[in-house]
Amino acid sequence: MITTEDMMEDLIIDRKHPRRIPQQLLLDGDIERLLELAGMLHGHYCPGLALGVKAVEAAFRRLGIADNTGMEEIMAVIEGNSCVADGIQFASGCTLGNNALVYKDLGRTAATFYRRGGDRAVRVSVLRFDASAGNEEERKEGDALFEKAVKRREKLSDAESARMKELWIKRSFETAAMPVEALFTITDVPVPELPFAPLVDSQACSVCGESVMESRAVFRNGKAVCLACAGEEYRMVIGKGIATAKAMRQ
Ligand SMILES: [Zn+2]
Ligand SMILES: [Zn+2]
Repeated sequence: MITTEDMMEDLIIDRKHPRRIPQQLLLDGDIERLLELAGMLHGHYCPGLALGVKAVEAAFRRLGIADNTGMEEIMAVIEGNSCVADGIQFASGCTLGNNALVYKDLGRTAATFYRRGGDRAVRVSVLRFDASAGNEEERKEGDALFEKAVKRREKLSDAESARMKELWIKRSFETAAMPVEALFTITDVPVPELPFAPLVDSQACSVCGESVMESRAVFRNGKAVCLACAGEEYRMVIGKGIATAKAMRQ
């Protein structure tokens, strides 16, 4: 049996530089291994995840970026919330949580990268979503299984699931091995002017007692009430993009 210790044995994490491994892999051009690690975040290997990792390879190389401390100095502006977004987050270190990932709800498979204070930004746009190597027959087989499982939400047999996984892994790593020029249109674009994430004070909601950012609270009789307790509209990112929801009064 493989223990956690065995699995972690050769993994050297530098606490002063936790992104050292992905960054070194990018510098070394070891995209295969970078994709392997990205699977930790994403949960499966798919061409989208591979394209996200490759988009970062293309942009960081062009911009000469080798480090990212996750303090909003390197920014990624993505234009869709597909599997590609996870490849981008893992490989670039720009994430939803560190506010270096900006999500434009455009439904396009493209992303713009830049260093704050720099004079260059690079936009990487996927030429074709299925732009991967591999033979045509396997691609059709994989697409048919994907269609059945994901588009039609039909149950796959164990054999079909295993086959789909196998094909998806193959296609992902084939994509990782392709030259970025074959996958994307890569262009210099104006540097986006996006503000740093504001530091906002929080208050306790006077109804539920939970901490809520002041920028998201409404004030009733001078007391902070979170949008959920206030039954107000709020926005959320769901599979189809940014949606508006109305809170149920609690
Ligand atoms: Zn995926
Ligand atoms: Zn509340």
